Amino acid sequence: MSTDLTKLSAVEIAGLVAKGETSAVEVTQAHLDRIAAVDDRVHAFLHVDTDGALAAARDVDARRAAGEELGPLAGVPVAVKDVLATRGVPTTVGSKILEGWRPPYDATIVQRLREAGTVMLGKTNMDEFAMGSSTEYSAYGATHNPWDLERIPGGSGGGSAAALAAYEAPLAIGSDTGGSIRQPGAVTGTVGAKPTYGGTSRYGLVAFSSSLDTPGPCARTVLDAALLHQVIGGHDPRDSTSIPAPLPDVVAAARRGAGGDLTGVKLGIVSEFTGEGAEPGVLAAFRESVDALAKLGAEIVEVSCPNFTYALPAYYLIAPSECSSNLARFDGVRFGLRVGDDGNRSLEEVMSLTREAGFGPEVKRRIMIGTYALSSGYYDAYYGQAQKVRTLITRDFTAAFERVDALISPTTPFVAFPIGARTSDPYQMYLADLYTIPTNLYGGPGISVPCGLSDGLPVGLQVMAPTMADDRMYRVAAALESAVGTLTPPTL
Ligand code: GLN
Repeated sequence: MSTDLTKLSAVEIAGLVAKGETSAVEVTQAHLDRIAAVDDRVHAFLHVDTDGALAAARDVDARRAAGEELGPLAGVPVAVKDVLATRGVPTTVGSKILEGWRPPYDATIVQRLREAGTVMLGKTNMDEFAMGSSTEYSAYGATHNPWDLERIPGGSGGGSAAALAAYEAPLAIGSDTGGSIRQPGAVTGTVGAKPTYGGTSRYGLVAFSSSLDTPGPCARTVLDAALLHQVIGGHDPRDSTSIPAPLPDVVAAARRGAGGDLTGVKLGIVSEFTGEGAEPGVLAAFRESVDALAKLGAEIVEVSCPNFTYALPAYYLIAPSECSSNLARFDGVRFGLRVGDDGNRSLEEVMSLTREAGFGPEVKRRIMIGTYALSSGYYDAYYGQAQKVRTLITRDFTAAFERVDALISPTTPFVAFPIGARTSDPYQMYLADLYTIPTNLYGGPGISVPCGLSDGLPVGLQVMAPTMADDRMYRVAAALESAVGTLTPPTL
């Protein structure tokens, strides 16, 4: 077949497979070949599951040959962030402490991906334990942005976003605690959606900050992201915070938005996120897309959300606090690495040596900050205060959504920065998620959609919607995509 299968959208691939014009094996092989050709330069993958992928593809082809009704994404390859447990397939969370761990079970999302007939290509690179904004904090080396290999692909899910931009996979899974799906989407010119908290299952997702962690879809088009969202989303009794309600019809909303009519939709620009601090090129691309949204019929107003400026400090107390508790389970006894167990050392010594060797510097920094914020005498001043700020941010969202249907802002204050530019100062790295964090603290959905270029590098626009109104954000994102188009990265 002459078409380059790696350049197609998930919808196109699924269509060809369904009609028998190509096979799932052919599609999978094309993507495995692409990975073999470019991933030594991109390093999007930590593990490529060649045998597993081809076996899954053969199974889809056999089911189709037997006349079975296949789902809308059957035969489509997907790359999975290494934060989700995959049965028998290495799962490291980008950390040495889990090196060699092969989970005995699948995360709910992975199970749903398999049931839908998608083909898992492998596990993608990430900042260790999803803590970071550049994928440079992976214990296995940085991922490179396909737009410019000297630059970061965002983080923590830089591997998933880079795999899409390098045409190594048409679909990917990420997880978003403070921006880790949307920020990599923005800086790689791809689409990344953070669902409503509780709208996608956390079962089998290695926990970072349990009140914020939200797995979600990454793709090159809004419709592909919505289709993937529909496959992985919905109630899961194995996750206690999963919402026991049907998922909004995100696919119908994306199709409706693609029609390019936003008449009757009121959008609020977050005024705190369009001023000082954002790069001029980012603001210019954002302003142009706002004009495009207005041309599609949307009414645009400015909305002030004064507490959003405190989201970053609140997040950097709440997330480390939760992480300091969650990461206590990595003790050298239950999973992965164990150091110093020579028969003469006490359990405490082995735990301490394992954690010293297994965790990287950023993870240790978070554990220390979190332990301090939760310690007696400081709890009210730090953790308690941050929780109060979280409530104020939620109130800002509630008030805004009484006036507008959705909020918009740039996804990130700056485009992809050079590798190494922000690693020496943690605060500079934290700033990458300035605009995405409020949504996590509130719990609503947010999506990043490409909105233009600044000096040849992608810029993303973020749409934020009320909780359980994920369909609304897909409609607006698809409408914008219909006006500005998708971005094509330079050929690798
Ligand atoms: N960059 C943020 C952090 O380092 C967000 C990470 C995420 O969403 N997983 O915590």
